[in-house]
Amino acid sequence: FNTCCIRDNAERKALGNITWLKEIKRVRPHMLIGVCGCMMQQQGMAEKILAQYPFVDIAFGTGNFYRLGEFLLEAIDTGSRVIRVSDDDSTLFEGTPISRMADHKAYVAIMHGCNNYCTYCIVPYVRGRERSRKADDIVREVACLQQSGVKEITLLGQNVNSFGTDTGDTTFPKLLRRLEGTGISRIRFITSHPKDLSDALIEEMARNKAICPHMHLPVQSGSDRILRAMNRRYTAEEYLRKVHLLRQAWPDIGLTTDFIVAFPGETEADFEDTLSLVRSVRYDSAFTFIFSPRAGTRAATLPGRIDPDVATGRIERLIAEQEAMTADILAGMKGACAHVLVDGVSRRRSTQLTGKSERNLSVNFTGDKSLVGSIVPVIIEGAGSNTLRGKMKGDAT
Ligand code: SAH
Ligand code: SF4
Repeated sequence: FNTCCIRDNAERKALGNITWLKEIKRVRPHMLIGVCGCMMQQQGMAEKILAQYPFVDIAFGTGNFYRLGEFLLEAIDTGSRVIRVSDDDSTLFEGTPISRMADHKAYVAIMHGCNNYCTYCIVPYVRGRERSRKADDIVREVACLQQSGVKEITLLGQNVNSFGTDTGDTTFPKLLRRLEGTGISRIRFITSHPKDLSDALIEEMARNKAICPHMHLPVQSGSDRILRAMNRRYTAEEYLRKVHLLRQAWPDIGLTTDFIVAFPGETEADFEDTLSLVRSVRYDSAFTFIFSPRAGTRAATLPGRIDPDVATGRIERLIAEQEAMTADILAGMKGACAHVLVDGVSRRRSTQLTGKSERNLSVNFTGDKSLVGSIVPVIIEGAGSNTLRGKMKGDAT
């Protein structure tokens, strides 16, 4: 299991799944069980696994995942448990073989770690400081993917806008320009921190033919007081100014975001500032979370915890507000042409294909499954609550 510890429920789910494997191991005693990832990097977690989960054979962290083969051989050869959670996560290893889920889409990590220390967030503690890969290595990887038929890449990093700051090697806009040169059809990236969204990136986005017109720009809250307590280092007004600049450069860009509700001390007025920000930005969609205290972070020790019923009430109101906005945006797309990268056959109807438009919206249309992996022009005819429907018009590429 590769684990996540960003929120308490991610952690509980992982521990639940690990516990469940115990039964399988009873039937198949030679099966090896390994647990890795962020949860293992938390203080005391490896010891907990060691003591309370005796059926786990291998545990390792985020810094030494490239040694999985070695850990497996060691567990097989010695028959003993291999627990290797390293503190040293500063080296980046290139050339680890990657098995990817789809033939036409790929995720490419361009940096690891984070330097931002948002007060609620455990990432800087479990993933370490920001480390960027070398631009040459990334360009080589993307060129290989392009040659093997991949149409779309998503560049990954906790804060892609600060790519290259640690190495002094290059910048994120320069990397995007080089990646366009590989001939890859589509480039996406997550996540952009609003404070580091530069004019140079906005210019590059508007110029670069491969970049998709979509940006995930997590705002977290619409209240300046809460943003300050979160250490996000922007105000709602500064955020809205960046949104304005983005839309000026690229009028039909789609924006998505993340929100945390019920941060310690959040008042009804703070929450209403968040609702009003939703109305002014008009996001295509949003991920919404209730604040989850993470041991070791500053926010976990703050006074003013919000009553769980109040928190649930707020998240429901936020979701309702966003759903209404999504429906309105989708309804307004009737008659537009979307270029859909086909992901597969719809789960509901076998004659329907499903894929993502350049703006990252789900689109369903009638077509043959041989189109999976192609980019197809589709005229939008209608919308459901969070998907678009349309008709193919023109040739696939
Ligand atoms: N680096 C990205 C986010 C990574 S975590 C960024 O800064 O935008 C993904 C999302 O999880 C965050 O945007 C935040 O909304 C949510 N999140 C992180 N820690 C959380 C916590 N302790 N409680 C609730 N939500 C949290
Ligand atoms: Fe966490 Fe993202 Fe803030 Fe980094 S920038 S501390 S990953 S929320």
